[in-house]
Amino acid sequence: MKIEIVESPFEPATRLSVCSHLVPIVNFLEKSGAEFDWATGVIPDKAVGNILLSEDDIDFVLIEDNFNIPDYLFLDRFRNMIFCKKCWCVVEKKSPGKVYNSSIQPR
Ligand SMILES: [Zn+2]
Repeated sequence: MKIEIVESPFEPATRLSVCSHLVPIVNFLEKSGAEFDWATGVIPDKAVGNILLSEDDIDFVLIEDNFNIPDYLFLDRFRNMIFCKKCWCVVEKKSPGKVYNSSIQPR
């Protein structure tokens, strides 16, 4: 049985949380040993949306093996990111030196 993502109701991202569509995935990856940049927190980027940085490569196989992915969640292996099209919320691999369109930058 794969885990279902609850589409509605949902909670948008905050500084301390991704949107509720991405929360189960982030929690699952954390339990599997992945680390996210909670020291920086969710970056509100004016162009892209709300971004949580992953310290590691995102394990897309693990995600697809364990979740039914709805069509509004886009798994982008090439750019190493997961994008929620409903909320404009993103989980992406941290890339050193990348500057975001935001008053908040990675620590
Ligand atoms: Zn969402």
